[in-house]
Amino acid sequence: MTTFDPAAATAAYLAQLSPEAHEKALHYTQGGHWLLLWGTLIGVLVSFIIIRTGILTGVRKWLESKKPRPWLTSLLVTLVYLTISWVLTLPWALYSEWWRERAYGLNNQTWGDWLGEAGVSAAISVVAMTVFFAVLYALVRRAPKTWWIWSSGVATLGIITLIVLAPVYIEPLFNTYTDVPAGPVREAIVKLAKENGVPSDKVYVYNGSKQSDRYTANVSGLFGTARVAISDAMLKKASLAEVRGVVGHEMGHYVHMHSLWMAAAYSLVFAFEFWLIHVLFNPAARLLGAKDVKGLADPSGLPVVLALLSVIGLLMSPVTNSITRVAETDADIFSLEHAHEPDGMAIALVRTIEYRAATPSRIEEILFYDHPSVSARIRRCMDWKAAHDPDSGKPAAK
Ligand SMILES: [Zn+2]
Repeated sequence: MTTFDPAAATAAYLAQLSPEAHEKALHYTQGGHWLLLWGTLIGVLVSFIIIRTGILTGVRKWLESKKPRPWLTSLLVTLVYLTISWVLTLPWALYSEWWRERAYGLNNQTWGDWLGEAGVSAAISVVAMTVFFAVLYALVRRAPKTWWIWSSGVATLGIITLIVLAPVYIEPLFNTYTDVPAGPVREAIVKLAKENGVPSDKVYVYNGSKQSDRYTANVSGLFGTARVAISDAMLKKASLAEVRGVVGHEMGHYVHMHSLWMAAAYSLVFAFEFWLIHVLFNPAARLLGAKDVKGLADPSGLPVVLALLSVIGLLMSPVTNSITRVAETDADIFSLEHAHEPDGMAIALVRTIEYRAATPSRIEEILFYDHPSVSARIRRCMDWKAAHDPDSGKPAAK
């Protein structure tokens, strides 16, 4: 019998990065936790400022001076709010999403490129949110007591629709997706795909290095549009074993339809969050000084709703992170069982430490990490390696 020690092997992988590199990753990751808090406070502050200008109640009074026009009012009020709020939070977004990322060597864009893409994303989310809030306000008018249940259903359907449409209509606005070029990497991916019932023409490479050299791959879409995409930044560095390990992980998301399961879990999160808004709207409106707002059904109270949502979203993030973490763990297990590349996975994971510090405490992992920590993931790979035959993937003979 060999004397392979999973704990020592895990430590050896983590030691491939210098202490300085680990230290830098720690600063980046823990600084990112604080950004969540500042981002929420800024969101609340922006809501407060917009309420105090009275601009939204002004829009509502102007539109409804002769007769009630509930649909038009909710559409226009939402549009005005989201536009002003985007502009007011732009300096913060520029700092947290561009300048800071660049300072850590995690963004390759000029500020102009970044701003162009931020504008496109904002346009998409403003359209989606405006439609969503128009429907939400209609539900509040129709079903003042149970709107939060119906709204959760609408939000979930909306998210599933966006997931289905993303690879076809949204992602091509930001990156170019092409077939993996012919060669050993493509052959390995096609073989892995065939073994796991994934259509092999559903694996793409995209020019992720346009935005960042992050070593990453993802799965997007659902039903007919589902696909796996590998960043060119990853493909450039990765060995065949790494590609098999990482693509095996993404295929796990694909085969187990994690996005659908996660949308189902989110429907419960949404119902709870909307219920909290139902209960907390009036006290929050008083707190923020929204005197001219005539209750939850009045669209000019949208800043109150969104301020509540941003605070509730922050408090719920351990739950939403945990939902994702469960799916990520499942995808890791799928990769080990189907690609049998514990070392390939481990090398790939070491490369992600620069944007996800490797050894958080258990509590930090639960609160802030949407993937299990790299140390835990490598340890799982090494435990699997100790217990299995690497070629067949069958449990090793004792
Ligand atoms: Zn994943």
